[in-house]
Amino acid sequence: VQSTMQDVPLLISRILTHGSTVHGSSQVTTWTGEGEPHRRTYAEIGARAAQLAHALREDIGVRDDDRVATLMWNNAEHVEAYFAIPSMGAVLHTLNLRLPAEQLVWIANHAADRVVIVNGSLLPLLAPLLPHLKTVEHVIVSGPGDRSLLADVSAQVYEYEDLLAGKPTTYDWPELDERQAAAMCYTSGTTGDPKGVLYSHRSVYLHSMQCNMAQSLGLTDEDTALVVVPQFHVNAWGLPHATFMTGVHLLMPDGFLQPAPLAEMIEKERPTYAAAVPTIWQGLLAELTARPRDVASLGHVTIGGSACPPSLMAAFDKLGMRVIHAWGMTETSPLGTVARPPAHVLGTEEEFAYRLTQGRFPAGVEARLTGPGGERLPWDGESAGELEVRGPWIAGAYYNGPDAEPLRPDDKFSEDGWLKTGDVGTIDRDGYLTLTDRAKDVIKSGGEWISSVDLENALMSHPDVTEATVVAVPDDKWGERPLAIVVLQESSTADFTTLRTFLAEEARIAKWQLPERWTILGTVPKTSVGKFDKKLLRRQYAAGELD
Ligand code: ADP
Repeated sequence: VQSTMQDVPLLISRILTHGSTVHGSSQVTTWTGEGEPHRRTYAEIGARAAQLAHALREDIGVRDDDRVATLMWNNAEHVEAYFAIPSMGAVLHTLNLRLPAEQLVWIANHAADRVVIVNGSLLPLLAPLLPHLKTVEHVIVSGPGDRSLLADVSAQVYEYEDLLAGKPTTYDWPELDERQAAAMCYTSGTTGDPKGVLYSHRSVYLHSMQCNMAQSLGLTDEDTALVVVPQFHVNAWGLPHATFMTGVHLLMPDGFLQPAPLAEMIEKERPTYAAAVPTIWQGLLAELTARPRDVASLGHVTIGGSACPPSLMAAFDKLGMRVIHAWGMTETSPLGTVARPPAHVLGTEEEFAYRLTQGRFPAGVEARLTGPGGERLPWDGESAGELEVRGPWIAGAYYNGPDAEPLRPDDKFSEDGWLKTGDVGTIDRDGYLTLTDRAKDVIKSGGEWISSVDLENALMSHPDVTEATVVAVPDDKWGERPLAIVVLQESSTADFTTLRTFLAEEARIAKWQLPERWTILGTVPKTSVGKFDKKLLRRQYAAGELD
């Protein structure tokens, strides 16, 4: 029998309408570096999103599922674009401004972006690319920056504020199919060409609801969220959509992502929550150690994107900031697990160990572990295999152009449609995931596996080590061996022997796993989303640049 319930499509426009009315007085604050930050209410964002949609339709002629790209920092205008573009039926494509130029060009051409909305401060990046962007006909510039850089381009150039001025502040948002594409994001191409994931209105809506669950991020309108994770990195982990459901105030850092301005904005704006990858937090920690600030407002921080080192979690605990570790991928919208410990361990010694896991699967994410021969492994906390996931906000294929069949490569999707994450780990009986490595980062030494993450965590627990990463390098005898790359505090006198002894004696790393190859660098190179760039490090080692 048919249900008797209303069939109301789960649309991003509904999240916008809800946020800008029910939570109309909640604020989006954008950091400006000097002077007062810029403040706008959710109601104003709603009105301006409507104006932007009118401009895109009437002045620029955006139709159907045209791709409208953004090359922007985290700021109020980017939030407006987040809502206006999908709500009118087009597809928001967030371009990753840290990608190398060739990859950005490849991605924008692959997505066939027609329009780019760009922050003025990023024109030096965009202008030289424009002649290579085959489908871009219109460029909309927002915020300060040198417009003369666009003097010779063939695309039509507009001012964001001029386009919005005088437009109606409401828009009759269409009743779209909730399964239609709303936003797209490319993986950063750690292996092969970047792959495009197309989120639907439905997947964004459901993902936002789970972000808001108490066992997930669980924020309310008493909170202010400092969104350090870029809006081009998997929809800022879903925060702008989720917060418009609950009225959480947003604090947007714009381009001010260095530790010192971050510390300053935390002290002045007093956010209660923040989200970013571990390298950002390592930087902030070093800054706070050197120049203490009042950051007591920050009760919770989500760390994800790479494993959170235990030393980082412990250091944050000392500062009164509770780390919520989470795991996810571009393909999983991204929240796939959140490490909130089970009630029965709260206040006990076990609690910390649970917080260090990647976390528990929420309702909506089904998980299984697959062994090397394709066999299903039990959830016993010991059997390690590749994690596969399925659910309404998990990708089932990659974008392959508007008229082509989506791509389902065998190494990414199982025959029965589950996403193969490429992450290796265990799941315990309560559904807590512990990752030991990415399949491609595991060090295969003499038929045994060494976890690069375990070595990194151990190294980062040494008080003199500010950054550490471990990669597999070829070895005649063992096949592969670990190469440890560390960054030491300026005043440190530690050397390889000290660190090796520390690993063996303090961190209790088995002798056969101890690295014999070491490099000390001033900083570890990072990927476009701020993770240690292991691919580049392996290449540099092969070229003899790391000896
Ligand atoms: P990229 O593949 O370019 O790094 P993603 O952000 O999609 O871009 O990366 C997803 C991957 O990041 C996951 O497959 C996993 O390997 C890693 N990852 C994410 N969160 C965590 C975490 N909490 N612990 C360990 N690894 C993580």
